[in-house]
Amino acid sequence: MENSPRKHQLRLKKKQPPILLLINVCIVALVVLGIALLNKSTSLTVEASALNVRTGPGLDFGIAAQVKSGTKLSVLKQENEWYQVTLPDGNTGWVASWLIGNEKNAAVTNLPATVNTADTPLRQEPNDQAEILDTLAKDTSLVITLEQDGWSQVQVADKVGWIPSQYLTQSKTDEVEKPEEKENNTIYTREESTNIRTEPNVQAELVTTLEQNIAVTVLATVGEWYQIETADGTTGYVANWVMNTQTLNNQSLVTSIAEATIMLDAGHGGADDGASTDNNILEKDLTLDTTLLLKKALEKTGARVLLTRDTDEWVDLEERSNMSNEQKPDVFLSLHYDATDDPNIATGTHVFYYYDRDIQLAEIVATQFKNLPLQSHGASYNDLSVTRENTQPALLLELGYMSTESDVTYIATEEYQQQVADLITEALTQYFQ
Ligand SMILES: [Zn+2]
Repeated sequence: MENSPRKHQLRLKKKQPPILLLINVCIVALVVLGIALLNKSTSLTVEASALNVRTGPGLDFGIAAQVKSGTKLSVLKQENEWYQVTLPDGNTGWVASWLIGNEKNAAVTNLPATVNTADTPLRQEPNDQAEILDTLAKDTSLVITLEQDGWSQVQVADKVGWIPSQYLTQSKTDEVEKPEEKENNTIYTREESTNIRTEPNVQAELVTTLEQNIAVTVLATVGEWYQIETADGTTGYVANWVMNTQTLNNQSLVTSIAEATIMLDAGHGGADDGASTDNNILEKDLTLDTTLLLKKALEKTGARVLLTRDTDEWVDLEERSNMSNEQKPDVFLSLHYDATDDPNIATGTHVFYYYDRDIQLAEIVATQFKNLPLQSHGASYNDLSVTRENTQPALLLELGYMSTESDVTYIATEEYQQQVADLITEALTQYFQ
């Protein structure tokens, strides 16, 4: 089975901006475009190119509609700092009053700040009786989106709420969380086209676009963004989820497999069985068996082999790539057997890479897999934790389907696994030549 998709999702989620932040950022961006209240009591005309209309009076309500510039909205009532409006199609929804230049509200901000008091309650509304959404630790970083009557509306992680302004210390963007150690402030672009922007939000204008694995210097961190400087002195902001903290190591100076260090990662283990067959053969056992056969085959060539596990034990996904990043093998291979929800609908092997750097290696392995009795589906990109978080050349191999009877008749045998081991050894021999 693929590299624990569920866990992988969690990791992705951690790195991505909370949707609310996006929405919030979007709204803030709209302010810049401007919207005017033509007739204060009854109607307003949208001047922004697009304005979000929500199902309720708050940023945490869903978006019911988007209205375009020039749309006339009738105001039905005001609740807190939101207007309930009627749209031209007769539907109703809510728009934030602070997007309409209401004098009562201070200017919308997007200021980074930190909580200066321990156990500060984050409240649903700007008053002491409002429901507490969360309790924030001292020094929690957040973004102030609005200030009103001594309260600040803030965005923290995926929550929007209110805190008395006195509990917040605002920071100028270039003074936020400066990296403490000089030597640790270089990071690297993860994506082929990495966007550097004028402000720490996805709506901001592009400053430049960088290629993959380009080193930049971190000047500051602002929420989930880095303020960075490029080698040519350009500064801007980049999202932390498109950056690596370590450089990708390219193919080493090794010129024969005998000089190479290979790290093998037997998928799953311990409490994590991975996929299983009808008669309860477990993926975690097949991956370990295959890994141990591959270790032997590689060691015969003189290669040094490292394992992320050599017994039936649970190893965290992140720990697997961390081991690789620390021990810096010349190649990292994660071994898996695949499964589908419905039985007998898929067959064969897949070779997955994340970085373009690893395409060549992936294709060499996939070509060797054509010699297996199961179909080789070739090399393809996949966003999987052990390859994405890996600084070393890395592949994830799916070696056949546990959910397909005809595949199981092969993959559960030592003969097939030995063949896999020999073909990978041949592929790596070619790769290092
Ligand atoms: Zn698996």
